[in-house]
Amino acid sequence: MAEAHPLMLYNTLTRKKELFEPLDPLNVRMYVCGPTVYDYAHIGNARPVIVFDVLFRLLRHIYGADHVTYVRNITDVDDKINARAAEEGVPIRELTERTAKQFHEDIAALGVLPPTIEPRATEHIGEMKAMIEQLVKNGHAYVAEDHALFNVPSWPDYGKLSNRSLEEMEAGARVEVAPYKKDPMDFVLWKPSKKGEPSWPSPCGIKKRGRPGWHIECSAMAEKHLGNVFDIHGGGIDLVFPHHENEIAQSRCAHDTPVMARYWLHNGFLQVEGQKMSKSLGNFITIHDLLQEWSGEEIRFNMLRTHYRQPIDWTRKSLEESRATLERWGETYANCGGSAGAGWLPSADVIDALKDDLNTPLAIAKLHELAKEAKGGAAAFANQWAASAELLGLDANRWRGRLMSASVLEATDPDLAQRIRNLVDARSKARKAKDFKKGDRIRDELAAMGIALKDSKDPETGEIVTTWEVRASSPTEAAR
Ligand code: AMP
Ligand code: ZN
Repeated sequence: MAEAHPLMLYNTLTRKKELFEPLDPLNVRMYVCGPTVYDYAHIGNARPVIVFDVLFRLLRHIYGADHVTYVRNITDVDDKINARAAEEGVPIRELTERTAKQFHEDIAALGVLPPTIEPRATEHIGEMKAMIEQLVKNGHAYVAEDHALFNVPSWPDYGKLSNRSLEEMEAGARVEVAPYKKDPMDFVLWKPSKKGEPSWPSPCGIKKRGRPGWHIECSAMAEKHLGNVFDIHGGGIDLVFPHHENEIAQSRCAHDTPVMARYWLHNGFLQVEGQKMSKSLGNFITIHDLLQEWSGEEIRFNMLRTHYRQPIDWTRKSLEESRATLERWGETYANCGGSAGAGWLPSADVIDALKDDLNTPLAIAKLHELAKEAKGGAAAFANQWAASAELLGLDANRWRGRLMSASVLEATDPDLAQRIRNLVDARSKARKAKDFKKGDRIRDELAAMGIALKDSKDPETGEIVTTWEVRASSPTEAAR
C-alpha cells in the first residue's frame, strides 16, 4: 500500500509550506480569531469560519475526533459594539447576545461544526489583567495616563510574522501618536472607560475603571484554553498586522517562549464582483442575505472552489455554477441509490488533496471524478463519494433532497408528475392567451409545491418551452 501523505501547511511565520507535526497528537490545538458581534456577519467573515472548519474536520479525521481542540472566540467588548448599542439605544449585552445568536444560526446553515470551545472576551477579563500585570512586571509594558501599553522596542522579535522592519511599521504608526506613548509603535493593552462604556476595575494599580484593548483578549483566551504554546493559529490575512503581531508579542513576552503558535495560517481576502466590499459601495453582503436566495451548501461549496490563500471574487455567476454542480450531483446521487451514512471512508485522493495545504479546488476536482464513477457504478461508489464530500462539510443527502429532475419524479410518483404537468400546461396556455395574472398565479402555486419552472426559447420555432424540476422534497410531500 502506498504510504499516506503527510499533512503540509503553509506557515505565514516561515513563509513556507511545512510538514505539520503537532506538539501532542493526542491533543492537537488550534485557535482562530472569531467575529466581533455587533451586526450580521458578512460573507468575508464566513471565509475563515468555513476554511478553518475544513481544517478542523481534516485534523479530526487524521488524529481522531476526540484529539483536536478548536477554540474560536467571540469578541464582545469593542468600540464598534459600544457605538452600535448607543445608536440603537439597547444595552450592550442585548446587542452582543442577539448578534452572537444570529452568527450561530448563519454559520450552522453553512454546515460549520461548533468549535470545541467558544470563549467570550468579557468572560476572560481576569486572565487579561493577570497577563498585563506580568508584562509590566517583566519590563515589556508600562502604565501611562490610566492606560497600560506594550512597549514595542522592548522586544526585538516584533515584526517577524508580518516581515516588516521597524522603520516601515513606525511610518505606519506615526499618524496621531498619543502623547503618553513612549514609542509611536506602542500599543494599548488596557484603556480607561468613558461614562456609559463597559468597565472593570483596572490592573497595575490604575485607579480609573477601564477595559481591555483588542489584542490582549486572544492572548489571554489562547493561554487559558490551549496553553502557552500550541499548534495552529488562524484568521484572515488582514489580521497579520497588527493583531497577530501583537498577540505574539504579548504571549511570548508574558510566557518567555520561543513561539506562541507553531503554525500561523491566513485566508486570503474576499471581494464582491471585482470590488472591495464596503457599505458605501452598496455591495456589502451578509450571510443572512445570501441565505435568502442560496442554500448554505451552495454558499459553502462556492467558497471552497477557491484555495483558501488566494483572494476570492464572490460573484453571482460563480454561485450559479455552484448551484448547477450541486443539482447535477444531487441527481446522480439519487439515481445511483447513494445513501450516505456511517461506515464509508473518504477516498484517499480527496484526503491527499486536503493534506496538501487544504487544496479544496483539487479535492473538488476529485469529487467530480468520484461523481463520474458513481454514475456508472454501484451504490457503494456513491457512498464513498458522499463520505469524501463530508470531509469538506458537504452533505450528499442534502443534494439529493434538494432537487429531483422531472424524470425522476415521473418514475417515483407518476400521479403527482401528471398533476404538475397539467398545471404547467395550464400556465403556458394562460400566457399564450396573454392572461399573465393567471399564469403567475399558477407559477406561484407550483412554487409552493417546490416546483421550479424554467422558460426557454426553442431556437428553431421561437416558441417558449417550459421545463420543470422539483426543488425540495418536502413541499411536494405537502402536495401529495
Ligand atoms: P472581524 O469581525 O472584522 O474581526 O473579522 C472576523 C474574521 O473575518 C477575521 O478573521 C477577518 O480576517 C475575517 N475577514 C473580514 N473581512 C474579510 C474579507 N473581506 N475576506 C476574508 N476574510 C475576512
Ligand atoms: Zn485574535
